[in-house]
Amino acid sequence: MGSARTFLPEAKAHYGRLRHCIGGKWIVQDVEVLPVSNPATGREIAQVPLAGDDEVDSAATAAREAFPAWRGTPPLERGRRLLTLRTLLIRDTEMLARIIVQDMGKTIDEARGEVARAIENVEVAAGIPSLMMGYGLEDGAAKGIDEEVVIQPTGPFTAITPFNFPVMVAFWFWPYAVAAGNTFIVKPSEQDPVVQDLVFRLIEEAGFPPGVVNLVHGAKETAEALIDHPDVHGISFVGSTPVARSIYARAAAHGKRVQCGGGAKNFLVVMPDAKLDSAVEAVVRSAYGCAGQRCLAGSAVLALRDIRDKFMAKFHRAANDLRLGYGLDEATEMGPVISDAARRRVVDHIARGAEEGARVLLDGRGAEVPDYPGSFVGPTILGDVAPDMKVVREEIFGPVVSVLEADNLDEAIETVNASPYGNAASIFTQSGASARTFRYHVQCGNIGINVGVAAPMAYFPFGGQKDSFFGTLHGQGRDAIRFFTDHKVVITRWP
Ligand code: NAD
Repeated sequence: MGSARTFLPEAKAHYGRLRHCIGGKWIVQDVEVLPVSNPATGREIAQVPLAGDDEVDSAATAAREAFPAWRGTPPLERGRRLLTLRTLLIRDTEMLARIIVQDMGKTIDEARGEVARAIENVEVAAGIPSLMMGYGLEDGAAKGIDEEVVIQPTGPFTAITPFNFPVMVAFWFWPYAVAAGNTFIVKPSEQDPVVQDLVFRLIEEAGFPPGVVNLVHGAKETAEALIDHPDVHGISFVGSTPVARSIYARAAAHGKRVQCGGGAKNFLVVMPDAKLDSAVEAVVRSAYGCAGQRCLAGSAVLALRDIRDKFMAKFHRAANDLRLGYGLDEATEMGPVISDAARRRVVDHIARGAEEGARVLLDGRGAEVPDYPGSFVGPTILGDVAPDMKVVREEIFGPVVSVLEADNLDEAIETVNASPYGNAASIFTQSGASARTFRYHVQCGNIGINVGVAAPMAYFPFGGQKDSFFGTLHGQGRDAIRFFTDHKVVITRWP
């Protein structure tokens, strides 16, 4: 249970019509807008413009025009702009976190954690002089012939990001691209774009030259215009699998560089020798943190036969005890899902699971929070779930856990690998042999061993396999620099 109730104030009741930030100018667009709602209160908090071809063209032109001077700025100096931004992000963490809560619905602690993750990426990207060094070999081909590789930026890139981490996901990409000397266009989710307004005011305050980092708001059409624009060299996408698949194909048709993170169905395997209390705590955090709207959320549990009953009793109690509410209340342990449409989708999944024969052991469908008419779903547990049911085959992206049966580790691994997704999987065990077998055989990109949310730190790349990832690399650290740069091989015969 949470601590005493402390309500933090909303930064503003309404943020008005949001603006694009293109070439250092804040652009008001007079055409189509969508309402943006607070998922806990259900009230409108902003209106988001949907950039058309003209705005996308302006952003791509600004990014192209800013590129030569930015590329010619020494890497150390580029890194210094990021270090200034780091100071500003730390200064304004609390405000950013409060806007994330209002915009997206997660709890204030989850929002603070998200901003901390963004800052870590800025810190790692600021080390660009070392990250971007080339390499060489004297007498590589024959005596007197040296060979070297130089790493160079290529031009404007874009990121198209999902609603569930409205600050962090863009930071997996743009700090590395920009540190490496490229320019950038961020297109946040239209569902919770408000916080990017403050992020871009901080980018401006940090002294990045106009056009180096640009913001365009919009939805599908804006994303497509960015992918199609000839000045945009590459695309980083994070979102659902169908969209990841289509963006991958669209970018590839242009011959563009592309990395696309998709959806997930992450299994948590609890072995009979697991430390029970810490495993239960990790599973609860993984499954219900951010109301289950994390691509690394555990949404299927395989508790092996010998521990199943003990695990289920503790898990049910802990899930049932979670306090639902508005994330600005410090006592809240789980917020709403992003929208009423999302709530209805989650509720439908639960109903379909029951129709297919799952037992609803804990039912979050009727969840209500006094004074908050928003899109709440309580923690839900489905038992007796078979691996071929839709609740396991499909991503639900809400606080719903399916519990499946397995008698041994081999069976558990087989069930994990039967999933079309390959984002993350965790095992809870004290046995090194079990952990290694799991790591060796499981077809997922992020593996947790006694860790419920296997989120790579900023200096490691994000993993992802099968329907969870299309492309070759995924953000963060040295691997992000590889995505955002070209290399040239230079061979010199010395006289
Ligand atoms: P989404 O696919 O609906 O939208 C993501 C972004 O794509 C948004 O900016 C949206 O405007 C844009 N978009 C939507 N439809 C489009 C289309 N047809 N063409 C081009 N662009 C389009 O995803 P979401 O609901 O915002 O985010 C949740 C999803 O993201 C979940 O599936 C989750 O698993 C996934 N996710 C994956 C990772 C990862 O690293 N693999 C991380 C976070 C979230």
